[in-house]
Amino acid sequence: MNEVKGSCYCGSVQWEFTLPVKTVVKCHCSMCRKSQGSDYSTWVVVPSEQFTITKGSEAFTKYQANEKSSKNFCSCCGTPVFSVNGKHFPKHVVLALGTLDSYSEKLAPQIQVYTPDKAEWVKLHDDEPIFS
Ligand SMILES: [Zn+2]
Ligand SMILES: [Zn+2]
Repeated sequence: MNEVKGSCYCGSVQWEFTLPVKTVVKCHCSMCRKSQGSDYSTWVVVPSEQFTITKGSEAFTKYQANEKSSKNFCSCCGTPVFSVNGKHFPKHVVLALGTLDSYSEKLAPQIQVYTPDKAEWVKLHDDEPIFS
């Protein structure tokens, strides 16, 4: 199927999108580290019109990170639902890869960004082009 479903940890919010996605980005920036609580983040970039909240559209909270970007997370469990990165990806939503309910090769990371900011122990993958 060309449909991919995602959900938050507690199940209050569920969503889905259709393939193909624009790209899948592994980001090593310090903002992603802080907001995701991990040493790097992997984001699925989906055209907005291919993305639908299927449950709990009132159950998430929006955090306006800056003028063009926001982060929306489950008000109950804190899982990132979707982000908007108006600077790099207008008209797209950005989903944390780890929130998807299933995976396929079509969702493998394609590029790596902000690699100069990466944590020292993180090894870069040669088969993922670097845009930094
Ligand atoms: Zn939740
Ligand atoms: Zn980042």
